[in-house]
Amino acid sequence: MCGSDLRAPLRDGTTVTYANFDYAASAPALSAVAERVQSLLPFYASVHRGAGYASQVCTERYEGARDVVADFVGARADDVVVFTRNTTDALNLLASCVPGETVVLDIEHHANLLSWKRNGARVVESAGTVEETIQRIVAELCTRPAALLAVTGASNVTGEVLPIARLARIAHECGARILVDAAQLLPHRRVDIAELGVDYLAFSGHKLYAPFGAGALVGRADWLDAAEPYLAGGGATKNVEIDSVQWAAAPQRHEAGTPNVLGAVAIAAACEALAGFDAVAAQQHERELCDRLTAGLGAVDGVQVLRIWPDSPDSVGIVTFTVAGAEPREVATFLSDGYGIGVRDGRFCAHPLLSRLGHVEGAVRASLGLGSSGADVDRLIAAVAEFVRGRAAGDPR
Ligand code: PMP
Repeated sequence: MCGSDLRAPLRDGTTVTYANFDYAASAPALSAVAERVQSLLPFYASVHRGAGYASQVCTERYEGARDVVADFVGARADDVVVFTRNTTDALNLLASCVPGETVVLDIEHHANLLSWKRNGARVVESAGTVEETIQRIVAELCTRPAALLAVTGASNVTGEVLPIARLARIAHECGARILVDAAQLLPHRRVDIAELGVDYLAFSGHKLYAPFGAGALVGRADWLDAAEPYLAGGGATKNVEIDSVQWAAAPQRHEAGTPNVLGAVAIAAACEALAGFDAVAAQQHERELCDRLTAGLGAVDGVQVLRIWPDSPDSVGIVTFTVAGAEPREVATFLSDGYGIGVRDGRFCAHPLLSRLGHVEGAVRASLGLGSSGADVDRLIAAVAEFVRGRAAGDPR
């Protein structure tokens, strides 16, 4: 993985090996991804446009990347893969195509909350248990028809995972489709949209061990073909006259302008690398680290680990916590400057959720990824304990 030997400067002037607990924000590129991008640099040329050798290679790699992504997420034969800038872009794109209202939960990242507002977003409360939340979704979808249920695959605040296949069945029984915001799920779990019954999936390359600037929307073509192009411009058309335009079908319909070829190729390389890993072993390792982190932090005086539901069936490696009486930024700065540990603090673009959990001031998020180790987890727990001890002793920070 790129940057695995990164050293972080400390307050006392020394350096230490960086402990990354911020995979949920962006995950460092895998070495295989960096090598694939490097291999394409000599062919740097625009796709679909030129007959030259470099352009042919780029076009082939770009279109090949679609097939790899489709394969990786278990797309059906008639699904399309539209390359976007990121998850936010993918959700806004689908929002511009949805023929009706969308039902969302109040736990969503702003990207999966605000995108839908243009056609009407009906927000369901996630209070109580998972079962109570699901029953509220059922009531909302069945009493008033909606076109789409848009749910997070894994919460970017707590890592909690809802039963997606069950929600897909519920949406379909009520005449709606389902979109899964997989920004946080896909880096941790193998997802097969055909098997789960998911109609649309959105994700970001930069959270999937690929570089910034590329993501994808994968799913059913009909809504995408029926809608106005997301952007108007070259590459999205079949024929243009001064007074009329014949638009291309999806995916090209929604990819006007020169596409991010390197970004798409990088995502495909990440998908291939991840598909080659032992997913069961990786998930088991992450589960052990996550349980160790949750238990270790929970045992520190004044630390509270946040949960949305008391009975969540499943979660990925994200542990968000508060320290009684301390500002989240204070904790994060102490961990970085004193211990070379990178966490995220704030409200994680999920303000309504943080408010509902009673933490309008925010929290501290520690997220795990492929480079996480037990030693790093112990280092984080010890550093948080040290922070709490120092505060109790009145140490100035
Ligand atoms: N959804 C979720 C669950 C996320 O965690 C994020 C990123 N924090 C997004 C959407 C938006 O992703 P991006 O910023 O890459 O568009």
